[in-house]
Amino acid sequence: MNSQFNLDIKNERVQFSEIEQFSVELYIKREDLIHPFISGNKYRKLKYNITEAKLLNKNTLLTFGGAFSNHIAATAAVGKEFGFKTIGVIRGEELVSKIDDNDTLRFAKENGMLLKFISRGDFRQKDSTNFIESLKVEFDDFYLIPEGGTNELAVRGCEEILTEDDKNQFDFVCCSIGTGGTISGLINSSKQNQQIFGFPALKGDFLKQDIRKFVTKNNWQIITDYHFGGYAKVSNQLISFINQFKQETTIPLDPIYTGKMMFGLVDLTKNDFFPDKSKILIIHTGGLQGIKGMNQRLKQKKLQLIH
Ligand SMILES: *Cc1c(COP(=O)(O)O)cnc(C)c1O
Repeated sequence: MNSQFNLDIKNERVQFSEIEQFSVELYIKREDLIHPFISGNKYRKLKYNITEAKLLNKNTLLTFGGAFSNHIAATAAVGKEFGFKTIGVIRGEELVSKIDDNDTLRFAKENGMLLKFISRGDFRQKDSTNFIESLKVEFDDFYLIPEGGTNELAVRGCEEILTEDDKNQFDFVCCSIGTGGTISGLINSSKQNQQIFGFPALKGDFLKQDIRKFVTKNNWQIITDYHFGGYAKVSNQLISFINQFKQETTIPLDPIYTGKMMFGLVDLTKNDFFPDKSKILIIHTGGLQGIKGMNQRLKQKKLQLIH
């Protein structure tokens, strides 16, 4: 991918009042700064898929996602930037009349993505051969990227997140989890004496099997206590935390992924989970495009907004 992408980002030290009396050293890798729209792990996950699609002479990318999907937004932007047509198959027929009220979908449309809305029931069948065949009849030839973007090539891209220095310096590496592609790349590229901790943004017990498809090491752990009720569910406590964290550190977090991970990390630290003097690297996987849409929902519910 080209020079518009900012890949020369130094880890930042994080100083946060709630844990200042603990001796752990926190650093954050600001992958959210890679690109305004193709940010964080979505850049990493799309990188080799784009190369592959070009190699195969495909001119269309097709993928799946929900109404707030960072992956849908990133795929639309990647398509525009690299000259692919893009098709987004979106969960929820009712959204067809709400594209312009939804920041993610509007962004995708403005970047040239063709949006096809399907029912939740059909969406559950989206990986079946029959369903994919029907898409081929409808749209002709395309390069298929799974929901959330996770496949072998995505994992390979995520193996490039950690630098050699990171592998030597840090005891722990933490990231948020959606489909498990990002943590898989981190695990594969880590040193055996490092521990990789993943914080799922959603409920469910399927993740370990999904991750084991891509990794062979066992220096990793899934921390399931900080999903806040499920995907895209938030609480006032979480929103307050995100606002306080930004005010103190200037680092913005998104409410769906990175905010939950950071909340969990701070909570674990307060509970003496990490040994003294641990050096911890946090991966900021991006996702900031989702803040506007979440604020819209919070406003409707008359709840506190993300600043
Ligand atoms: C998509 C996304 C994730 C989840 O990544 P997976 O590879 O699916 O686990 C985490 N954080 C952010 C900000 C994301 O947009």
